[in-house]
Amino acid sequence: MKLHEYQARQILAEHGIPVPAAQVVRSPEAAAEAFKSLQAPACVVKAQVHAGGRGKAGFVKRVQSALEAAAAAKFMLSNRMISRQTGPEGVPVSVLLVAPAVNIAKEFYLGITIDRARSAAALIASAEGGVEIEEVAKQSPQKVLREALHPLLGLQPFQARDLAYKLGFSGRWVGEAATLMLNLARVFQETDASLAEINPLVITKDGHLLAIDAKLDLDDNALFRHLDLAALADESQERPLDVRARKADLNYIALDGTIGCVVNGAGLAMATMDIVKLHGAEPANFLDVGGSVTAEGAIEAFRIILSDPRVKGILVNIFGGIAKCDLIAEALVQAGREVAFNIPVVVRLEGTNVEQARKILASARGEMPTLQTATDLTDAARKVVAAVA
Ligand code: GDP
Ligand code: MN
Repeated sequence: MKLHEYQARQILAEHGIPVPAAQVVRSPEAAAEAFKSLQAPACVVKAQVHAGGRGKAGFVKRVQSALEAAAAAKFMLSNRMISRQTGPEGVPVSVLLVAPAVNIAKEFYLGITIDRARSAAALIASAEGGVEIEEVAKQSPQKVLREALHPLLGLQPFQARDLAYKLGFSGRWVGEAATLMLNLARVFQETDASLAEINPLVITKDGHLLAIDAKLDLDDNALFRHLDLAALADESQERPLDVRARKADLNYIALDGTIGCVVNGAGLAMATMDIVKLHGAEPANFLDVGGSVTAEGAIEAFRIILSDPRVKGILVNIFGGIAKCDLIAEALVQAGREVAFNIPVVVRLEGTNVEQARKILASARGEMPTLQTATDLTDAARKVVAAVA
């Protein structure tokens, strides 16, 4: 689950990380008021969205008057933000942050995330932070420093100081930067985050170390022990189909192909996507309905897939172990009654209760003229690709 910058800033501040004062607003008038009450010569107006790249997209704007603040707010609130981190459809903006502008002397990148190669969380830092960090990581990876966190002991003070020196801090900055890193590690650990990032961490011209951006992604599987954080979720930032899928306990990821896939098991779902590609088409989604799927969940899966206008055909691939083939067949028939499939559906079923499932599908033939059955996965992939060609 992603948090907004203003929510993440508050958590950083509660953990002793210096963040400039800021106000959260939802209208141009409130942005103008915030500008006045912050009493700074200049402010930044920042769109609060679950995506980065705002600076380059024009959704972080420096303003020098209440009037300019209102104008920037008006623009941001009436446009979706499209950046390299969003799809072409962008994300809606309904909340803004107004913060006193700081005069930046130097920008750093600081982040903690899971380093899969080391099977550990890692602190990642660069003295070339800011909006070009992706380029720095690509062009000069040696400028991105990494330090693995011990799984039990976490980030150690000596590691933080070592990194601070390597980032070029000297004098009193070393201690301040090291403390900040240790505090960020506490945020990461205490919130069960999958990403805790400050980009940029800045040294201001008047000599302060400040976090002027904050990003916090939380591990969904740990949210049950952070109900206060779970309450900060903002569904407006997610694709509507993703929200529906999550509510139905489906592991669903929309892709941009034409073949909708209904599969049980993540491995089988991956194999299904591979075989669709192998036969010359592209999957419209990854979907693992899971082992304990209910009839209602399975019907919702079909509804979700059918509501994607790109879907030209559906491949149902069920290997019934814990999930029962007859339940999926029933769901398919019921979804068909509800939405009337007007696109080809190819079904491959094997395993628990497959005979009952075949009977259910056979007796539904009349009402589902676009339904085909397949003998195995290759046959199924061939049939569905041929049907949409
Ligand atoms: P992001 O592009 O979504 O990561 O948004 P950021 O909050 O990181 O803002 C983008 C960039 O705007 C930062 O990297 C800074 O260079 C710049 N920026 C943000 N706030 C300030 C500020 O208060 N003063 C100045 N001079 N630049 C700022
Ligand atoms: Mn940033």
